[in-house]
Amino acid sequence: MRKRIAVIGGGIAGLAAALRLRDLTPPDTEIIVYEQSGALGGKLRTGELAGVTVERGAESFLMTGADGRESAAVALVRRLGLEKALVHPRKVPAALALGGRLAPMPAGTLVGVPADVTALGDVAQAAAGHDTDNGHPLLAVGQDVAVGALVRERYGDEVVDRLVDPMLGGVYAGRADRISLDVAMPQLARTARVEHTLSAAVRAAQAASGRVPGQPVFGALEGGLSRLVGAAATAGGARISLGLPVRELARTAHGWRLLLGPVPAPQTDDVDAVVLAVQAKPSARLLAPVAPAAAEAVGGLDYASVALVALALPPGTPLPELSGFLVPPSAGTLVKAATFVTRKWDRPENGPVIVRVSLGRAGEEDRLQFDDAVLTERAWRELGELIGGPLPPPAASWVQRWGGGLPQYAPGHLDRLAVARAALPPGLALAGAAFDGVGIPACVASGERAAEDVSKAMAA
Ligand SMILES: Cc1cc2nc3c(=O)[nH]c(=O)nc-3n(C[C@H](O)[C@H](O)[C@H](O)COP(=O)(O)OP(=O)(O)OC[C@H]3O[C@@H](n4cnc5c(N)ncnc54)[C@H](O)[C@@H]3O)c2cc1C
Repeated sequence: MRKRIAVIGGGIAGLAAALRLRDLTPPDTEIIVYEQSGALGGKLRTGELAGVTVERGAESFLMTGADGRESAAVALVRRLGLEKALVHPRKVPAALALGGRLAPMPAGTLVGVPADVTALGDVAQAAAGHDTDNGHPLLAVGQDVAVGALVRERYGDEVVDRLVDPMLGGVYAGRADRISLDVAMPQLARTARVEHTLSAAVRAAQAASGRVPGQPVFGALEGGLSRLVGAAATAGGARISLGLPVRELARTAHGWRLLLGPVPAPQTDDVDAVVLAVQAKPSARLLAPVAPAAAEAVGGLDYASVALVALALPPGTPLPELSGFLVPPSAGTLVKAATFVTRKWDRPENGPVIVRVSLGRAGEEDRLQFDDAVLTERAWRELGELIGGPLPPPAASWVQRWGGGLPQYAPGHLDRLAVARAALPPGLALAGAAFDGVGIPACVASGERAAEDVSKAMAA
């Protein structure tokens, strides 16, 4: 009989799942993507400012996976025939905003963790003599710690506060002292279970990364990442249901019943299998009646809220020769990072100068509770202070808020996830940033794995 599969959540994880399901299931299988908002893509949303393409969410993806091979995002780009649209940032350095100046970002670190602490110059002083060989690996088998805990113990506070924290702030809007090493830096977590010093562990992780020096680290798509969303949705051939949240999930004799839409006018839909590709809180709500242990294991994940302010400064506004900069939390600014869009990407240089400013960190939600005009003024003023001189007022701007946008994986996340997955009935799989990592490649791979799991369960 013709099968039906529901993918709940139309972000990149859900779309990658739908596409893989199309490849794995018989052609008459009906795949339905349920997205509660009015548009697919989730955190992938391409916008525009003063005629220039500017991402309103994610900007680029890693080209290489943790295994040194092409990342799942690049493989998806190829699968969709978009490889000719692949673009890379220009080779312009990035900086750290430290004590009133923009210092070049030290090269050769692993998310800010250096192999050679003496090479950090005046960016950060390492605590001398702490990274000693105590005769055993840094971490026991199965042990996970916060990135900050490990690096503070071995290299001292300054390396964390001035280098690792801003780097992790750039990716997670989170703090090194709260984020799991296993999730944020899996290669380092692996080598830390073998090596006796942090510098040896970083060197081993870098050697294992398979990265070819000189190859671009990041990729994006000409025209923006919404192209990836549109192409994945079209190629998957799934039926797309927009605008109705899935409110409840229940078991039936042969599969699953979805309850959709507003409380006064509910609709139901019966399917044979479900891929759940939504954030942690809605996942936990939907899982509670059908897999309570899984709901409990995933429901506690915290999120950071961030806001992006894009500014179109007048043509010719001078900016430092940088792609942008990161700001350590200790600076106390609301601005945590800035991207000089027209310099970093191949955009017209004689038009408006576009800067995308990122505001907010984990635990600082209340600092974003201002209207758009106030946030824009704050972003513009702090940007001027951080680059060392006042800027002309922007000719145009927008604000994009991502409330609860970035998961904060605490140490032990992978164990909790294993508990959740073990508690799932067959035919129900989890995908996306709530579970398997924040980056686009991780979300794509996670969606594809979930599709493989449910199609196996259906074939059994
Ligand atoms: C500002 C910002 C910048 C980023 N920059 C980068 C970057 O440069 N590179 C990178 O690799 N990553 C970046 N990320 C992270 C990355 O974009 C995300 O982790 C990833 O896109 C998440 O994909 P997802 O499909 O798991 O979840 P989402 O994109 O969150 O999609 C989940 C979808 O589920 C829907 N949904 C929720 N509940 C329900 C329900 N009950 N019923 C139906 N639908 C529901 C939501 O509306 C949403 O569309 C960034 C994130 C943010 C916020």
